[in-house]
Amino acid sequence: FGFKGCQKIRGPQIRGLLEAKDFFLFDCDGVIWHGENAISGAATVVNSLIRHGKNVVFVTNNCTRPRENYVHKFSRLGFTDVMLEQIFSSSYCSALYLRDVVKVRGQVFVMGCEALRGELLEAGIPCVEEADDPDATIYNCSLAPDVKAVLVGHDDKLTFLKLAKASCYLRDPECLFLATDNDPWHPLSGGRILPGSGSLTAALEVASGRKATVIGKPSRFMFECISSQFRGVDPAQCLMVGDRLETDMLFGSNCGLDTMLTLTGVSQMEEAQEYRNSDLTTNHSFVPDYVVDTIADFLPAFEE
Ligand code: PLP
Ligand code: CA
Repeated sequence: FGFKGCQKIRGPQIRGLLEAKDFFLFDCDGVIWHGENAISGAATVVNSLIRHGKNVVFVTNNCTRPRENYVHKFSRLGFTDVMLEQIFSSSYCSALYLRDVVKVRGQVFVMGCEALRGELLEAGIPCVEEADDPDATIYNCSLAPDVKAVLVGHDDKLTFLKLAKASCYLRDPECLFLATDNDPWHPLSGGRILPGSGSLTAALEVASGRKATVIGKPSRFMFECISSQFRGVDPAQCLMVGDRLETDMLFGSNCGLDTMLTLTGVSQMEEAQEYRNSDLTTNHSFVPDYVVDTIADFLPAFEE
């Protein structure tokens, strides 16, 4: 006792919070859906928030889909009113970073999925074309002369050659080193996990002796993207809802937002309490202000 945060809220407290806030940021996997299955009640919650005139955006570290793909997925899963402008993925934000912040001149070497390259190309950023030569090795391949950034993301077609080429480009201190996100792993069904972008970033950090700049959560940049596209966003009016303490809650803390942990995903109440009770004050940035079992707990707040 005596510690702030991890407040489990229900009924009237949730209603009060939803009335007090006007801008809701939702993480996707673990909050809105598990893979291809919507979390029960999530669609009704999101539809109701939008219908009540609240601003709703989605902040996902998943860089493997173009934004249009999310629009279709939301619609398929019963989220009726979600538009492209509400979707902030780490791939889209990486493209904005390269285009608007560093204004990259030259090509970008992408170690990631096709969708990540697609987001960059759509933003007008040239990417190194990967030749499909089965005989190419790091000894005989050619390296592009004008690579000004290496961008790492989730890559389900990772090869040793890609890792080796990325390491070579990073020898040039003028070549930027970016990562879509630093997520270590993601839960799959049946007790399996998917190694995340962070595991590939770590490999490249070791090979290059450099540290990547992370674009996705918990970096503030995603919130800057949101602020620049929704005028007058006031952090005090925002609620960040997520399932992972080390990305979502830290992101909220970094941006000055109130945070809510849902227990339908990666992190559990005990981990949140451990961070809260820690003597290390930096650990307190991982502590959610509020905790709910699921965002379906919002539903009674919309009943008359
Ligand atoms: N990256 C990949 C490749 C994923 O598969 C997932 C979740 O499934 C994520 C990131 C995390 O997404 P989110 O930030 O929406 O939880
Ligand atoms: Ca998540």
